[in-house]
Amino acid sequence: MIMTIIEALTIGLGLSYAAALLHASQHHYGALTLMSTLAAALLIANQATLWLTVTLAITLVAALHRSRWGENWLTQVDPQRLRVLCQHTLALSMLVVAAQYGIHLWFLGQGLTPPLPRPDVVDAFLPIAGGLGLRGAIETGHLDHHHPAAMVMLTVVLLGGLLFKRAFCGWVCPLGLAGEYLHRLGDRLLPARRNVPPRLDGPLRMIKYVLASALVYVVALALPTMALPGYLKSSYHIMADVKMAQFFVEPGTLTLLMGTGLIVASMWRRQAFCRYLCPYGALMGLLSLLSPLKIQRQSDHCLINSKGLACDKCSRACPAGIAVHQQTRIHSDECQACLRCISACPKRAQALALSLPNQRKVSANGLFVLLVITLLLLPLIAHLAGTWHSETDPLIRIQLIQMLDSLGM
Ligand code: SF4
Ligand code: SF4
Repeated sequence: MIMTIIEALTIGLGLSYAAALLHASQHHYGALTLMSTLAAALLIANQATLWLTVTLAITLVAALHRSRWGENWLTQVDPQRLRVLCQHTLALSMLVVAAQYGIHLWFLGQGLTPPLPRPDVVDAFLPIAGGLGLRGAIETGHLDHHHPAAMVMLTVVLLGGLLFKRAFCGWVCPLGLAGEYLHRLGDRLLPARRNVPPRLDGPLRMIKYVLASALVYVVALALPTMALPGYLKSSYHIMADVKMAQFFVEPGTLTLLMGTGLIVASMWRRQAFCRYLCPYGALMGLLSLLSPLKIQRQSDHCLINSKGLACDKCSRACPAGIAVHQQTRIHSDECQACLRCISACPKRAQALALSLPNQRKVSANGLFVLLVITLLLLPLIAHLAGTWHSETDPLIRIQLIQMLDSLGM
């Protein structure tokens, strides 16, 4: 039941930084509540790893508070700087997770007990296992003991879509960040590229919904309820994460061709993977239609209406290609709540804001705190409740990894 150091450090850093932001913006009760929750979690968990890493994280944030950078990073945080910090910190954390997982798998493959534990957060890349695990828990009361973190992370992602639109794409996802870098590379290597024409863009965007439908079909309909407990104990399910890793580590010709095509597409069209292929993005996009948070344009403050200018800076800044300057409230399933449109607007928060239906505005700091609470506090609670850590015996995985290619659903 021990959380890995990188998981605990990410949780500690994220939550203590969120509390420091709340404190710096005079939301003292919010900061106190968050830190008290973290302290209570530490007391309940009573684990040296959590104590040490969270204490280290709190010390780092406190040092930042006192340093000369404190002003820039805590009291006057630029929304885009905050978003980029969030994306890069989580991407760095995922890189460490990937390295630790790779070492873990290498030892398993050699028939040895790994010296490093498996970071359970890798199960975030198993949406089918997570969905079937959730179905098993709801329909049969059978809890998945092999990949419980997959259930937790799927819940986190879907809840995130429902609450904050596709903010996970804009603030969290390392694939989205990689897409941004590839597109910048495309700026240099493919200077003459042209935009995807609208008549092609629309049908291409539908691909991710087709993939999401296939995912929903596999999770919701392909297995009858009575077969769920058996599947959740099966060798295939136990090794679902290793099967996924094998797909990337030992790619076939088709995978290599698709990967290359995806890299070129990402260099060509900004966020091509998120826009055209990501089934998670499609599910969050659909849920985001129900989200109470939307980008709202106040036309009486917008330069188009107030000064009669031909401004479209918000639309040009939007990575999703949304015509922000032509709408009042952005309902688009592609909006990632990245707030780039607000940052680009000459009238800033007066003309554009992320707001609730009652017009109450949510700042970048507020969105970050809500995101961090959903993304990090829920897994911490799941960990304390015993529904995060995989209970699979490493010896079983050592045996199963030798017969990986013959494992089928
Ligand atoms: S509308 Fe604004 S918040 Fe939404 S994706 Fe475009 S730039 Fe980001
Ligand atoms: S950038 Fe601001 S002022 Fe310009 S069109 Fe958009 S909302 Fe209006």
